[in-house]
Formats: sequence, C-alpha cells, structure tokens
Amino acid sequence: MFCEKCKSLLFPQDGKLICRKCGTVHEPASKAQVIKHKGKDKELAVLGELSGTLPTADAECPSCGHNKAYWVLRQTRAADEPETRIFRCVKCGHSWREY
Ligand SMILES: [Zn+2]
Ligand SMILES: [Zn+2]
Repeated sequence: MFCEKCKSLLFPQDGKLICRKCGTVHEPASKAQVIKHKGKDKELAVLGELSGTLPTADAECPSCGHNKAYWVLRQTRAADEPETRIFRCVKCGHSWREY
C-alpha cells in the first residue's frame, strides 16, 4: 500500500500504516466494518435464494432505474423496531432497504 499524498511506501506501525516520508497515517478498515458487511451479504444472499417466490412491487431500482422489484418483509429482533422492507430488482438483482 502506498501513501495517497506522496506515493511512497507505507510501513505498518501500531496497527496503522505510516508514511515515513510525509508522516501521513492511514487507518486500515476496522474489523467492525468488515463484520457488518458480511452480515449484510448473508442477508442479501438469503433474499437471492427466495427470488422467484416473492411478490413484486412497483419500486424504482436505484441501480438501473427498473420499476419492478421483489420485496420481502424482514422482522428485526428488537420488538420496538419497525419491520424493514427489502427490495430486490427484478432486472439487475440489486438489493436495497426501505427505511
Ligand atoms: Zn507520504
Ligand atoms: Zn436494477
């Protein structure tokens, strides 16, 4: 990995990447973010398996602009949180949530 400012090689130090030339500190992506991403992927993978048996709705895909999407209600674990609708584009397979 190279420094964004001066393009010189970065050296790992205290879990961060330090540029020895200009002193820029590059923080690597935190583990929490990676786990969050994995959880989302799993959720969307489940949705992918269900595609074909799901109802469709008129919803515009933010990715390709297609106006039909499968949707599923996803119940959150916390009782005081509302249900979330998850859409999956019929055309391109892009998934998104309705807040
Ligand atoms: Zn630098
Ligand atoms: Zn789409």
